[in-house]
Amino acid sequence: MTGSKLSAPYGSSLPWAEPAWYTGRPSAYYKDSHRKLRDAVRKWCDENIAQHTEDWLNAGAVDPAIYSKCAEAGLLVPIAFGKSIPPQWSSSYPIIGNIPPAEWDGFHDFVLWDELIRSGGLASLFIGLVVGAPPLLKYGSPSLQRKIFPEILSGEKRICLAVTEPDAGSDVRNITTSAVKTPDGTHYVVNGEKKWITNGMFSDYFMTAVRTGPPNSGAGGISMLLIPRSSPGVLKTRKIDVIAGPLSATTYVTFEDVVVPVEYLIGQEGQGFKQTMVNFNHERLWIAFQAIRGCRVAMQDAFSWALKREAFDKTLIEQPVVRNKFGNMGRMVESLQAWTEQIIYELEVLGDEEGARLLGGTTALLKVESGMVCKYVAEECLKIMGGLGLTKTGQGARIESFYRAVPSFVVPGGSEDVLLDLGVREALKIHRAAEKAKAKL
Ligand SMILES: Cc1cc2nc3c(=O)[nH]c(=O)nc-3n(C[C@H](O)[C@H](O)[C@H](O)COP(=O)(O)OP(=O)(O)OC[C@H]3O[C@@H](n4cnc5c(N)ncnc54)[C@H](O)[C@@H]3O)c2cc1C
Repeated sequence: MTGSKLSAPYGSSLPWAEPAWYTGRPSAYYKDSHRKLRDAVRKWCDENIAQHTEDWLNAGAVDPAIYSKCAEAGLLVPIAFGKSIPPQWSSSYPIIGNIPPAEWDGFHDFVLWDELIRSGGLASLFIGLVVGAPPLLKYGSPSLQRKIFPEILSGEKRICLAVTEPDAGSDVRNITTSAVKTPDGTHYVVNGEKKWITNGMFSDYFMTAVRTGPPNSGAGGISMLLIPRSSPGVLKTRKIDVIAGPLSATTYVTFEDVVVPVEYLIGQEGQGFKQTMVNFNHERLWIAFQAIRGCRVAMQDAFSWALKREAFDKTLIEQPVVRNKFGNMGRMVESLQAWTEQIIYELEVLGDEEGARLLGGTTALLKVESGMVCKYVAEECLKIMGGLGLTKTGQGARIESFYRAVPSFVVPGGSEDVLLDLGVREALKIHRAAEKAKAKL
């Protein structure tokens, strides 16, 4: 990790509209390839996405043609793999900004998402890929990887993650969707329902938590199975309307006697609960990425407005109460950014296993903090905009939309109350392990 020199300011100079390192200030974390990536993603999104977002919102869906454009632009490989790009999947597909795969790190992941979120609606298209692809990479058999990755990395097919059920959300251990082996042992027959599955409407593969053990087998009876939409049996999807809007295609999925070859099992039977929990760590960090840029966009629009809107013979920014709001938002967003960067750095240094052990609870708390900062920023920006903050078009539109998106940072990926508790339990576990180690000395 090399320190960076002062660099040319980039993007908006409005306070907090961009991360500090964009404004030219030094950072220990970002080097030339991060700047190159930032420039490439922003340029591509400005040229290819910005003009479509409103049409997509009106149509209730992202134009499907955009997906192959994203593949050609080199977005899918880094989105699927997150903080490091495996060499076996890096040579056949482009990477945006031509970043050498060996150089790709957690900060590239952050920069990529920071810019994608800024672009508006596009990011919602990839949520399934972000959470659905990692179990295949970490635990899928080489032959399954060789079949599926070329399809999803080329943009030909799409994937999502299906864990939650109508009766089991936070308590993943209680899922009931069953996968029963056929008598000849060659297939699973899947029956059950999944709810709130992001991108499910347009996915070809469902990375699904199923019960392969008996009904009351708890966490140890859960496995992860990749279910192709084209499987024999009945796999039905129907859209669920959620507060944040239609673009992420939230879905109710029903499996009725869906027949899946045993080769589509991810890793071993009984490992599905652990695989789901490990998957959550990157998901929670990535929710922080989205939250930070969501706040910055809202603050940028609110600041522009506060500089020109006059009330009681002064611009809003000349009113101390309004400056107080920006001061509070600024300190919260910068703290969130700094904490996020610290965790990314630690994950770079620690291996996957140690990272999960030492940072699972911290990442859960980071996700909680992200939701809390978003709630504050959305509410304050909305108030600064006045009536415009409640209006779906015009200068307050991005703030109105962010305000509605805030619950998506609070509940999915682990609900706030559950994660607060998890954060403390994980901290205690580390404390007890440290005491035990000390006692052995
Ligand atoms: C827009 C959206 C997108 C989603 N995308 C996906 C997806 O792609 N794939 C997927 O599998 N799932 C997805 N989900 C599901 C999401 O992960 C769950 O909604 C979430 O885990 C909460 O589960 P639940 O809704 O069943 O709430 P419950 O588990 O019923 O919890 C309700 C509330 O009870 C409280 N609570 C429950 N247990 C505890 C506890 N132990 N300690 C303290 N408080 C507790 C909390 O306040 C919690 O918010 C999505 C959900 C939404 C809304």
